[in-house]
Amino acid sequence: MTDETMTASTLPQAPLHEWTPERIAALIALWNEGLTTSQMGLRLGITKNAVVGKVHRLGLPKRQSPIRKVAAREEKPMGEVIKLDKLTGDMCCWPDGEPGTDEFRFCGKKSVADKPYCADHCRRAYVRVTKDGRKIAVA
Ligand SMILES: [Zn+2]
Repeated sequence: MTDETMTASTLPQAPLHEWTPERIAALIALWNEGLTTSQMGLRLGITKNAVVGKVHRLGLPKRQSPIRKVAAREEKPMGEVIKLDKLTGDMCCWPDGEPGTDEFRFCGKKSVADKPYCADHCRRAYVRVTKDGRKIAVA
């Protein structure tokens, strides 16, 4: 008897590239979880391009990458936020962040005499690169 062979060959198995309602539901679930298209492709057993194409055809809403959001938050410097109205003459006015947004702030450390910046930012502001590629302070 060849029962095993019979069973295997008669199993209803959809080809991997076929978008059954279950696979579309899985795609949408993974999309909403925030997985990258390549991660989704791995889970679904298809290429990244197939995922991108299907997402586009389904018209799924664009997501913000949660990975990038976390990274941006970690980069944000801690401490007091110095806005323009708090900035005084002896404070470093090195700008930080995107002007016009809540992120925008100033360094606010004590500035070096006769300079608008603190010692750290003076070094960054008044640096010249010589012909042979060396960086020299010109402050
Ligand atoms: Zn500074």
